[in-house]
Amino acid sequence: MGKVIAIANQKGGVGKTTSAVNLSACLAYLNHKVLLVDIDPQGNATSGVGINKADMEQCIYNVLVEDLEAEKVCVPTSVENLDIIPATIQLAGAEIELVPTISREVRLKKAIDSVKEDYEYVIIDCPPSLGLLTINSLTAADTVLIPVQCEYYALEGLSQLLNTIRLVQKHLNKQLLIEGVLLTMLDARTNLGIQVIEEVKKYFQDKVYQSIIPRNIRLGEAPSHGQPIIIYDPKSRGAEVYLDLAKEVIANGERVGERY
Ligand code: ADP
Ligand code: MG
Repeated sequence: MGKVIAIANQKGGVGKTTSAVNLSACLAYLNHKVLLVDIDPQGNATSGVGINKADMEQCIYNVLVEDLEAEKVCVPTSVENLDIIPATIQLAGAEIELVPTISREVRLKKAIDSVKEDYEYVIIDCPPSLGLLTINSLTAADTVLIPVQCEYYALEGLSQLLNTIRLVQKHLNKQLLIEGVLLTMLDARTNLGIQVIEEVKKYFQDKVYQSIIPRNIRLGEAPSHGQPIIIYDPKSRGAEVYLDLAKEVIANGERVGERY
């Protein structure tokens, strides 16, 4: 039964999609069967693994709003062991269209539950908001991985996210745990980065991953080639660190009882 990890932070540009795509691809590279679920109408994770959104007739929208079977929209990617449920711009309407529907918060959970036995990991790339699509993701997830960009005010807005996580735990998904906090886009040349790392570690303690994602040009380039970094440039620093992260995620799963 696949472990479902939502990658969430309502701030845009903190590295959610980059982490969703590359963690998924690295887990797949390490021989785990992975499903990436794109639930951001921007569809950046979809194009990030080389899927042409214009070719997609159906996407996660049809599953959430029209009850299409999830299995029908799972497509293989060019990465071995990695499938994706894509998102297209059509999904932008779902946030509003779902409002009056029955069990609107659990639609993604139902969809993922129907396919997760075929996978070891299901990674959800959330949109930059705390709306219904993110609530659906947190409801469907076993754990949530929070990327935090190494910048001023790194912790700003995180209390809102943590509040939302608590509300979901209370009303929709008691089992939900924090998988870990991932520091992203570290510029090693500045002192600021070091300060932010200390601040975030003080707050989240051992939930912060030892793997810290550096700012890396190759990581920024890879999406325009429709390739995860492990394919685009496996020797780059970005590839090394996302591979380390994948190993940490696997190891943490093995001792989950002790960690939380
Ligand atoms: P989010 O999904 O949270 O909005 P993205 O993962 O899309 O954030 O990242 C925002 C932008 O920063 C993208 O253009 C992405 O390619 C780039 N980016 C993300 N992480 C890195 C990194 N470690 N080094 C360089 N560029 C990065
Ligand atoms: Mg994104």
